[in-house]
Amino acid sequence: MLWTCRVLCPQAGPSAGGWQPLSFDGGAFHLKRTGELTRALLVLRMCAWPPLVTHGLALQAWSQRLLGSRLSGALLRASIYGQFVAGETTEEVRGCVQQLQTLCLRPLLAVPTEEEPDSAVKTGEAWYEGNLSAMLRCVDLSQGLLEAPGPTGNILMQLKMTALTSTRLCKELTSWVRRLGASWELSPERLAEAMDSGRGLQISCLNAEQNQHLQASLSRLHRVAQHARAQRVRLLVDAEYTSLNPALSLLVAALAERWNRPGEGGPWVWNTYQAYLKDTHERLRRDAEAADRAGLAFGVKLVRGAYLDKEREVARLQGTQDPTQPDYEATNQSYSRCLELMLAHVSHRGPMCHLMVASHNEESVQQATKRASRLRCV
Ligand SMILES: Cc1cc2nc3c(=O)[nH]c(=O)nc-3n(C[C@H](O)[C@H](O)[C@H](O)COP(=O)(O)OP(=O)(O)OC[C@H]3O[C@@H](n4cnc5c(N)ncnc54)[C@H](O)[C@@H]3O)c2cc1C
Repeated sequence: MLWTCRVLCPQAGPSAGGWQPLSFDGGAFHLKRTGELTRALLVLRMCAWPPLVTHGLALQAWSQRLLGSRLSGALLRASIYGQFVAGETTEEVRGCVQQLQTLCLRPLLAVPTEEEPDSAVKTGEAWYEGNLSAMLRCVDLSQGLLEAPGPTGNILMQLKMTALTSTRLCKELTSWVRRLGASWELSPERLAEAMDSGRGLQISCLNAEQNQHLQASLSRLHRVAQHARAQRVRLLVDAEYTSLNPALSLLVAALAERWNRPGEGGPWVWNTYQAYLKDTHERLRRDAEAADRAGLAFGVKLVRGAYLDKEREVARLQGTQDPTQPDYEATNQSYSRCLELMLAHVSHRGPMCHLMVASHNEESVQQATKRASRLRCV
């Protein structure tokens, strides 16, 4: 899968010092043929139709049964797959990226591995090892795509933790993180030590099988980070559900202990913060200050959040407090506050602090470029 991002660079010439609004003039559409634009319109309209989103997997299974896997696969490739996937071969991906580069857009490649939080399908280590191999290949592809790494030297890749470790273990870890708080038993330093040494880690609150899976997961994470660091690719870890996020953040913090140290040229491992959660601004402030105190580089992908309906449904079913902001406006305000906070840190810490404004929202992007220009972050 491919996301694009635009890198903000220092302005030269007569406009230096003055903020110029980014123009969203639809330039990207000139790169597309009429057929591709029509397909985009159809696919995006379909994606906005809730029954299709809810029953998408069932429909896919039906179409495979009725049409056979070849025909249904061809249909999928010509529609949804064609819209969202950069290509099936390295050459196709390269062509797509080169086209986007003409608009100063840069790629953020993602290995598409979706797993529902309670999926019981993937139990053995083989599925996770297969994902590890795909991620190592994706690091190489990300590194090899760009002829020049661009003004900030950033090559970015998405990393989905639950492709390398089970959601079941993440849920268990989350419940212990919440119970134990900041204890040595589940500290980033302890996990980082286990990642580095590869020695068997024994967490007393986990059973033997869980400890074994945790050690295997740490080893996979270590291998991806090590390879990404060697290839100078930055790993942006996805935020997922609140039932998993504390565990994911613990694993990111463990990776950061090792790979975001001063002198490494990092941050090589970034975390994602979802502004639609009520506690995000406070967590972001705490984490940014902690990284500053520890002298660690800090990388943040700031998003609004993708799991609104599910978060609310789970809270309703469990009778717990809804963790999300009450409405869209409150999420926008939270996003804006997080943005201000992070830009102040970027301005204060320079290259030790990186921020990605991961949003399609024009207002947020304009706010970011305007404030960044005032604070001289770009
Ligand atoms: C590069 C990239 C990486 C991403 N990575 C992640 C990730 O790791 N984790 C993740 O969760 N998402 C991720 N997303 C998706 C992101 O969280 C948003 O769902 C998506 O980008 C839409 O938000 P927006 O800011 O672009 O636009 P907008 O259309 O302005 O905002 C839509 C968002 O507003 C919020 N919202 C809408 N209605 C309400 C309401 N009634 N109450 C409260 N909030 C509301 C929701 O978060 C919704 O997604 C990523 C997006 C991009 C572009």
